[in-house]
Amino acid sequence: MLERHILQSFKKPAQQLIPMPKKEYFEEIIRKIKKEKLGKDRLSRLKVRLCKKHGLVKPPTDIEILLNADEKDAAKIKKYLQTKPVRTASGVSVVAIMTKPIKCPHGACLMCSSMVEEGIPQSYTGKEPATRRAIRNLFDPYLQVFNRLEQYAVSGHSFDKIELIVMGGNAFKAMNDFSRVFFDGFKFNFAKFKKFFELPGDVGDPERTKRIQQKLLKQKNKQKTSLKKEMHRADN
Ligand code: SF4
Repeated sequence: MLERHILQSFKKPAQQLIPMPKKEYFEEIIRKIKKEKLGKDRLSRLKVRLCKKHGLVKPPTDIEILLNADEKDAAKIKKYLQTKPVRTASGVSVVAIMTKPIKCPHGACLMCSSMVEEGIPQSYTGKEPATRRAIRNLFDPYLQVFNRLEQYAVSGHSFDKIELIVMGGNAFKAMNDFSRVFFDGFKFNFAKFKKFFELPGDVGDPERTKRIQQKLLKQKNKQKTSLKKEMHRADN
């Protein structure tokens, strides 16, 4: 089912294919951006004007222009073509990846768009950029990260420092739910946490590391639940 969904996302009718803009178009627009230091509005108008001149049916995107510039020109025009500069203005680029589609332990809440059978993570619609990227990359986290970094690079963003966000309606199910080990209801129980991690303690002690790893592994796959149990847990 998942593979079919992925294949469908690649299928495009032939009439949707747009011919590549001409080389002369790129040469001229790159020359003008360098010379006139165009802002986005003037750049849009110039794109349309040059389309008429070079007989193009559709103006290229800013990214296409950047990708058609040589290394020297790209460095000069990047700042005029960068999309959504605020996205990485803080110096940190966010990379969102998705867990594979897994049903929540209790099934699906009424308001949830549950499309797990169609290969879409629970609570998502399959249209979000992060979901589409995850589907394209078969939900492999490594491939998803590189795909996002590639997008940052081609849109003129820096990705020296990233913040990784793991998404998915049921990320805790996918990653094993440790909440009941450290939480009482919705309240974090610091005493339980300290006991589990043997704190204060010697964090460099290999024996302690071994004991904690064993406890964590024991929790893995331990979770079996139902709607009734989940509701009881939420009530208490
Ligand atoms: S993803 Fe959230 S809303 Fe959807 S079924 Fe699971 S808990 Fe409910």
